[in-house]
Order: sequence, then C-alpha cells, then structure tokens
Amino acid sequence: MNTIPNIPKNERKRIVIVGGGFAGLKLARKLMKSHFQVVLFDKNNYHQFQPLFYQVATAGLEPSAISFPLRKIFQAQQHLHFRVATVDRIEPGTQEIFTNIGKIDYDYLVLAMGATTNYFGNKGIAEHAVPMKSLSEALQLRNTILTHFEKALSASQLEDRKTLMNIVVVGGGPTGVELAGAIAEMRNVILPKDYPELDFSQMEVSLLEAGPKVLNGYSEASSVKAEAYLEKLGVNVQTAAMVADYDGQAVTLKDGRTLNSRTVIWAAGVKANEIGGIPAEAYGRARRLIVDRQNRIKGVENIFAIGDLAYMETEKYPQAHPQVAQVALQQASLLHRNLKHMEDHKPLREFRYTDKGSLATVGRNLAVADLPFLHFQGFIAWVLWLFVHLMSIVGVKNRLFVFINWAWSYFTYDQSLRLLINPKEDEPVTEPKATPAEA
Ligand SMILES: Cc1cc2nc3c(=O)[nH]c(=O)nc-3n(C[C@H](O)[C@H](O)[C@H](O)COP(=O)(O)OP(=O)(O)OC[C@H]3O[C@@H](n4cnc5c(N)ncnc54)[C@H](O)[C@@H]3O)c2cc1C
Repeated sequence: MNTIPNIPKNERKRIVIVGGGFAGLKLARKLMKSHFQVVLFDKNNYHQFQPLFYQVATAGLEPSAISFPLRKIFQAQQHLHFRVATVDRIEPGTQEIFTNIGKIDYDYLVLAMGATTNYFGNKGIAEHAVPMKSLSEALQLRNTILTHFEKALSASQLEDRKTLMNIVVVGGGPTGVELAGAIAEMRNVILPKDYPELDFSQMEVSLLEAGPKVLNGYSEASSVKAEAYLEKLGVNVQTAAMVADYDGQAVTLKDGRTLNSRTVIWAAGVKANEIGGIPAEAYGRARRLIVDRQNRIKGVENIFAIGDLAYMETEKYPQAHPQVAQVALQQASLLHRNLKHMEDHKPLREFRYTDKGSLATVGRNLAVADLPFLHFQGFIAWVLWLFVHLMSIVGVKNRLFVFINWAWSYFTYDQSLRLLINPKEDEPVTEPKATPAEA
C-alpha cells in the first residue's frame, strides 16, 4: 500500500488521531498549538452532534444545523493535516496505520472512533429496524417515517394503515425516551394538520424497555417522572419488555406478545467501532478497548483509546465510564496534557471523571435533570436542557439556526422540515427497506 502523499515527515513527532467526534476533535483542537504534527482521519468530512439526531429524525432540525465541516475548524493550520479516510487496520509493530487512501506511520496513535449500533446478533432486527447512530441514519429515519405516512394514505385495509402509522422505539435510555417523546408530540400536534385524511387516534407510539424502568442510571425521581411525561404525551411505555425479533411487520417480545409496526427504531445498545490489528486481549465488554488510567490500550505501545471506544475500569466505575460526551471530552483533555508530559519526561496523570450531571428531555416544557447535588424536573429542567445543548453545538451559525428553529417551533407548534429528500432526484417515494412479504 502506498504512503499517503503530501503529509511531510519533519522534526515534529507525529500524532495520528482516528475520529473527529467529541473526543478526537477536542484533542485535535487542543494540539493545534503544540509541537506535534497532527494527522486527523475521519470517514466523514464533518463533526456530528449526536445528542440532537432525534430532532433531525423527527424533522425538527436540518442535518446541517448539527454538523460542522472539520476542514473549516482547521483552516490555516500548517501542522494539522485532515484527511477524509476510513481506517481499516493498524500495525503496532511497525507503528503504521492503513486506510482506504493509503498508509502512514505514527509516533503516537489515538483511536477515537466511537461506537455503532449493537443488534446483539439478531439478524431480523438488524435487517428491518432503523438505527440512529449517524447523521445519515437520522435522515433515513425521517424519510422512513414520512414515507410510511404517505403510504398509509393509500392503504385500503385499516390494519395495514395502522401498521404503517405505528412507531415502536426499542430502548428506554435517554435516546429512546427523547425520540419517543418527540414522535408523540409530532403525532399529537403536527401530523394531523399535514395528513387530515388519516385518523391519528389510530396511531400508536410505543417505547419498549427490557429493564424495569426507563432512564436506568438516572435518579429514581427522574425515571418515574420521565415515564409519567411519556404517558402524558400518549406514549405506550412498556418496561420489562424484551424484544426477541422483528420481521419488518411485527415486533415479537420474549413473552410472545407482538406489536404491529413498519417503523421500529433500535436504540437499545451500542458496541465499539472496530479496526484490525488490535490484540485480542485488548477487547473488553461491547468490544470497547481496555485502557489504563492514562487511556493506553492494553498490550500495545504508544496507542491510546478515548471516548466511547475506551473501556477504563476504576473504583468508582467498575464497569467503565458511561458512553457520554463529557467522558469523551475530559479524556481528550487529559490525554493532551499527558502527551506533553511524555515529551517532557514528567509523571503522567490519572483520569478521574467529573460527572457534571445528566439531562433528558421528553417534550415541550418536559425534561428531567440530575445534577450532582440536585434533581429536578419540568420547565426549569427543560430550559437547562435547551441551554446546555445549544452551547455545546459547534459553530456560532449552527447555534443561531438551532435557536431560531426551536423558537419558531415553540411559538408556532410546527416544524417546517418534513421533506422527503431522496438521493436520486427522479426517484419515486419508496420505502428505504422492503419487507420480506413485498420483496
Ligand atoms: C442519538 C444519540 C444521542 C446522544 N445523546 C447524548 C446526550 O444527550 N448527552 C451525552 O453526553 N451524550 C449523548 N450521546 C453520546 C455521545 O454522543 C457520545 O458519547 C460521544 O459522541 C462519544 O464521542 P466519541 O468521540 O468517542 O465518538 P463519536 O462522537 O461517535 O465520534 C467518532 C468519530 O469517528 C469516526 N469514525 C468511526 N470509525 C471510523 C473509521 N474506521 N475511520 C475513520 N473514522 C471513523 C466517525 O465518523 C465519528 O466522527 C448520544 C449518542 C447518540 C447516538
């Protein structure tokens, strides 16, 4: 394989970062003023803000409002080279990394590839359910939902119409809760205006959670309140509901019950994104990479993993840290400091996670907030959620767009982004995935 051209080898030590998500981007930004040469790879040319994917999926925001071109962030950076490339494998022995555009060697390698959807080996679910782990998947979900309403208009049988309109969200974590709430609000307020020929009292929005409660990991008060908010919006919340299979028409639960729906959204698990060349001993739960307190991957030299990919056991987090943005950002900050310390032969610091709290929104004026010493719910929690998310989005223009969109939706009870945009202009309105019956 050829060496990637136009990245000069000079006296600077080279740090290669794989992934421009929360962790990789933070580290690259911090290293901009360092004495290292930085090479950043991402398979996309943009950074994506995952916490707001569900608003893209429910036509509340345009994809461009929550993504940011990586190249724009690194304009005029002489010693930072960004390449759109998919990394396939590494060769720890020769300190090389292999991508679809060539190979490159490194002095330090930082893996920050995040996580992807985990179907736990269930083929039916993997084939028919819709994931929401990337911007393009969120957009595909928007298309799937809107396509099914268009089809429902032409369904002559009541059962077919209901199956097309029903939406099932699997996974009662923050993603599932936020998504189910947003879909229920769409059903209650917006869709009846767009589709007056459809009877939306027939549409069921269900949230299925295998555990005993939604928002597991949040305070008891927040869990209970979130479930109450969902029920207030008309979501059919079912806990202790383990999904066994899905064939594109009906979800089957472990206890034999079934729910008919053509739109099943899978938000029930993630596993780490993988590349080749990592020794088997380095893999922990959900294929995350076992790291020490300085984020060094077990069994290899000069290779680090940060963010969702990293599996670090500590006394306080014996099953590793939660896969959230704050962990990714804090690990990136510490690694930046430790990389400098390594060069200066100073002792390295250990990672200690500062949990700033958790927020989840269920709908308009409805949210829960678990701060380190305070738990509260309702309007104030919702305003806090809006503020925190707005301030976390990359780019002033994006923040402004999101704010205007939110204000518009709040005062008009409407969103204006219910467009079905197919990749090919002359493509008719078709479903993204055909069911076996139709195939
Ligand atoms: C729907 C959703 C909602 C969420 N909501 C919240 C929330 O409200 N609050 C919160 O704190 N956290 C939330 N999270 C979790 C949070 O987004 C993650 O913890 C965070 O993104 C992890 O950052 P990361 O840098 O490790 O990975 P990511 O941000 O996922 O970045 C990984 C990057 O690596 C790139 N990549 C992957 N594989 C390769 C490869 N082989 N070659 C090249 N590039 C590659 C990807 O394109 C991506 O840019 C949410 C996640 C999802 C999916």
